[in-house]
This record gives sequence, structure tokens and C-alpha cells, in this order.
Amino acid sequence: MSLRERLKKTLSERHSTNLYRQRQILDSPQGLQVDIDGKPYINFSSNDYLGLASHPDVIRALCKGSETWGVGSGAAHLVTGHSRAHHILEEELADFTGCKRVLLFSTGYMANLGVVSALLKRGDTVYEDKLNHASLVDAGILSRAKLRRYTHVDISMLTELLKQDCKGEKLVVTDGVFSMDGDIAPLPQMIKTAHEDNAWLVVDDAHGFGVLGKQGRGVVEHFKLASQEVDVLIGTLGKAFGTFGAFVAGDHDLIEYLVQQARSYIYTTALPPAVATATSCSLRLLQKEHWRREKLGELINRFRTGAKQIGLPLMQSTTPIQPVLCHDSDTALKMSAKLRTNGFLVSAIRPPTVPEGTARLRVTFSALHTEEHVDQLLDIFSTKFK
Ligand SMILES: *Cc1c(COP(=O)(O)O)cnc(C)c1O
Repeated sequence: MSLRERLKKTLSERHSTNLYRQRQILDSPQGLQVDIDGKPYINFSSNDYLGLASHPDVIRALCKGSETWGVGSGAAHLVTGHSRAHHILEEELADFTGCKRVLLFSTGYMANLGVVSALLKRGDTVYEDKLNHASLVDAGILSRAKLRRYTHVDISMLTELLKQDCKGEKLVVTDGVFSMDGDIAPLPQMIKTAHEDNAWLVVDDAHGFGVLGKQGRGVVEHFKLASQEVDVLIGTLGKAFGTFGAFVAGDHDLIEYLVQQARSYIYTTALPPAVATATSCSLRLLQKEHWRREKLGELINRFRTGAKQIGLPLMQSTTPIQPVLCHDSDTALKMSAKLRTNGFLVSAIRPPTVPEGTARLRVTFSALHTEEHVDQLLDIFSTKFK
């Protein structure tokens, strides 16, 4: 088969199995309501959990930042791309996370690749939850370490696997909040298991920062842990922070080591300094405005209570990610289309993003939603899908 034929075959297979993906073009900023093809939709499918992506103060900070710093950073961090704006944000994030040091990365994907591949080498072992984010799995593969996957949050299986390997270094890697299921990794047990075996624990809390814990410090605060109990903490800035980029938090040696060794840190242009300025602003809002997290909690409760009453198949999630299981991709697509006809945007998530047979609607909440929006959404679910 030629490469051209392989492309054609893959595309047509995707079509025939309802797995073909297409982008929709937004004609409005990310927010509560988005415009697509001239029509407004109430948006239940972004990761802008706190509603900061289009916050006027954050927009102003970005504008002011670009007046001060220009647009492009013009170089990698180790060359001349590391500005005062980046450095201040790193210090603020270190304060926020309670870790000694923080290192900014251009995206969460790159942070994950950089961390795991810098820490491990051939002969080591990386242990990953079956439902870990794709970037963590890719990071494991890139590291050349042996990749061991354990059943979702099955800590006894993880413990068993850790005991089986005796050579090399060990790294346990997990999502803090699982991105497609919304459930929370059992960190206290994972810390115990990992450390009993001298393994380090890496937690990617892309969906926990800003959302979990009274102060929004994520899964670590949720379990009332000290940040030092997790060896490497990773956060993304494109979700609850509403901006762009990512960070790794840890001790002094970890961060200095990553500066020397993480290839996705070294060999790439630093993110625009104005984005760092904007993120400093959103970090202040995220810490100060507790009402955003409280509101999310109320919306989630209302949705789950209402969903139970109408018999919607929910998952074990207490976070703003509330998937509704449809099983097959066809049903997921049809339900998503129905919601759309009624003015609601909820994306269908299909394999390979989720395991075969677990296609779902991924409903996500934002602090900008009102109780009326939740009730309207439930209303469509109850009248259109019976
Ligand atoms: C979104 C996400 C990432 C990737 O972050 P980006 O900044 O979008 O590249 C990494 N890990 C998890 C768990 C995510 O949900």
C-alpha cells in the first residue's frame, strides 16, 4: 500500500465508523455563548471552567503586556526569550502551588513530553493509568523507558506492578482529574504506594488547578496534602486560567535539571511574554474570586441531581467534567446534533480519545453558566432522548 493509499483508507474508515473529526469555526470569543455559522449556542464544551478566557481584566493585561513586551518572545528561554514577565509569573505560580520553583512551558503537551523524557531513560519504568491523557502516554513512549499501564485508578494493580520491576528508576504518572471522565486520582494512596517503592509521582493536574480546593490549588489541596508530597506537579494555563501555556512545579533541583535536560523546554520559542502578563492577572482573579469555584459547585450539584431524576447515565465525577455515556459513536453524534439544534453545544467524544464502547457527551461547566442554563440543558435531555 502506498502512503497515499494509506491516507485514503484511514479517512474512509474514519467516515464509515463515525469517527471522522471535523473542526467547527467559532466567530466569537470563547465564552458562555459562542457563534457558529451565524447561530449562537450556549457552550457546554470548553475547558474555560472559571470563565476567565474572555475576562476584561485579563484582556487588558494582555494588551498592556504586548505594549510593554511586544508580541513574540523572539527566542527560546535559554537564549534571549526569558523575560521578566515570564520570571514573575514563575514566582507567582511557585507561591500559588506551594512549591519551591516553577518552570513555564509553551503547552501542557510539551511540559509532559519534557518532564517524563528528561527524568527517565532506557532501563527505567514508567507506570501510567489506562485513562491518562494522550500527552502523558506519548511522553512515556518518548522516554524509552518500559511503559506499564494499570487499570483506571486500580492502586492494587499499580502496587503489584511496582513490585515486579527491580531494575532502574520508577516513575508513576497520573492525571489529577481525568480529562474525559472527570474523576479524581486517589493521590494519598498513590503517594504511599509510589514512595514505598522509591518511585517518584508525577501529577498532571490540568483540570484540577483553579477548580479544586478552596484556594483553587487543585488536587493537592483537595486531599489536603502538602505539595512536597508530590514529586512533580504539572498544570496547564489554557484551561481554568483561561490563557495559554503550562508549568511544572517542584523543588530547586528538579527545575534546574529540567532547564538543562527537557528538550521540549530548550528547543522551542518561549511563549509570548504578554501571555505571561495576562496569566498573572488571571492567577490573581482565580485566587481572589472564590465565587467562581462556589458557583461551579452549585451548578454541578444541580446538574447531577436533575440528571438522576431523569435517569441520565452519569459517571463518578464531582468536577466540572460531567460526561453522559452513550456507548456507541453514532448515538453520541446524534445526541450532540440534537442538543445543537436546540441551541446547546456539547461535544461528542469518541474513540480513540476514549476507550471503544464508551463514546460520550462531555458536558463541562463554567462559572459563567446560570442555573437556568443547567435546567434548560436537562430539559432537552429529558424531552428529546426519551
Ligand atoms: C489539556 C491537557 C493537556 C495538554 O495541555 P495543553 O496546554 O492544551 O497542551 C495535558 N494534560 C491533560 C490532562 C490535559 O487535559
